[in-house]
Amino acid sequence: MVTIATLGSHSALNILAGAKDEGFKTLLLCERSRTFYERFSVADEIMYLNSLSEIKDPQLQETLIQKEVVLIPHGSFISYLDIDSLETEFTVPILGNKYLFRHESDRNLEREWFLRANVRIPRTFSPDEIDTRVIVKYHGAKGGKGYFTADTPQEFYHKQKENEEKAEIQIQEWIHGVTMYFHYFYSPLNRELELTSIDRRYETTADAVVSLPNREPTYVVVGNFPLAIRESLLEQVFDIGDKMVEASQTLHERGLIGPFCLETIITDKPEIVVFEISARIVAGTNIFVPYSPYSYAKYFEPMSAGRRIAREIREAVARGRLKDITT
Ligand code: AMP
Repeated sequence: MVTIATLGSHSALNILAGAKDEGFKTLLLCERSRTFYERFSVADEIMYLNSLSEIKDPQLQETLIQKEVVLIPHGSFISYLDIDSLETEFTVPILGNKYLFRHESDRNLEREWFLRANVRIPRTFSPDEIDTRVIVKYHGAKGGKGYFTADTPQEFYHKQKENEEKAEIQIQEWIHGVTMYFHYFYSPLNRELELTSIDRRYETTADAVVSLPNREPTYVVVGNFPLAIRESLLEQVFDIGDKMVEASQTLHERGLIGPFCLETIITDKPEIVVFEISARIVAGTNIFVPYSPYSYAKYFEPMSAGRRIAREIREAVARGRLKDITT
């Protein structure tokens, strides 16, 4: 009997509550300090670790395999397990296609994916080409730390000098519009793309009530707002989702499996401009336990992202196809 497991962070409550909904045993791997998970009712078992990076330990992996664990990866999982060891040394089955995580972590590979999908993305510039407002991003930057904006090459060089970050940068066209994050689920069993929910992030200091002039906003995510999109735009939402799934199959033969998210900005055309992809569950789905307007219109029963994952695992087990949804 499969046990659904995840790391104690990010979307663990959502994932494990969904697993319980579908009748699975659940296991939480968790840092010692996070005893607050015991205050909830989602984990049948909690294994405490000194650090989440212990998940790499071969003996622990063997224990998890013995327990027939399917591990659900989330944002924290990817940051504790570097991508090289995930691809080569991690043998516990994980839900989804781990070979695509490299493409979400590296801005150049991510861009390649968008180009193959032919979705609208921000233009990129070299410093001397800047002829419009741009946002300057560091690779792998967490929470937009150190990002800055510029309108001209001169402003770019001036601000870059002041900035302490030395990492590689990408200069992107600044898109004027509002952010929307689309949460999808691609089912390899049904060969179908579903829209599970939509959110917008609550970012400090960008969403601070009083934004001080002449200060670059920061984008540290501290929460999420639920969103329903203007219904006529759903056509574009499914179109970009379908294109990303199709393009994923040219990057790796298995393509996207299960939950993923497109981070976008919607302009007043209105046009959806995609600026990032996450090839796994995102924390923005947490507000949709037990369901969203979109998952309700498909299932007419509670269906969170966590439950949708567990449902796919349940169906895969029943059809003897677990290998088709794990890597
Ligand atoms: P990211 O670290 O790429 O998730 O970006 C952090 C935040 O910066 C996003 O939530 C957006 O609010 C903003 N942002 C990112 N890229 C752009 C862009 N090309 N144009 C305008 N705003 C952006």
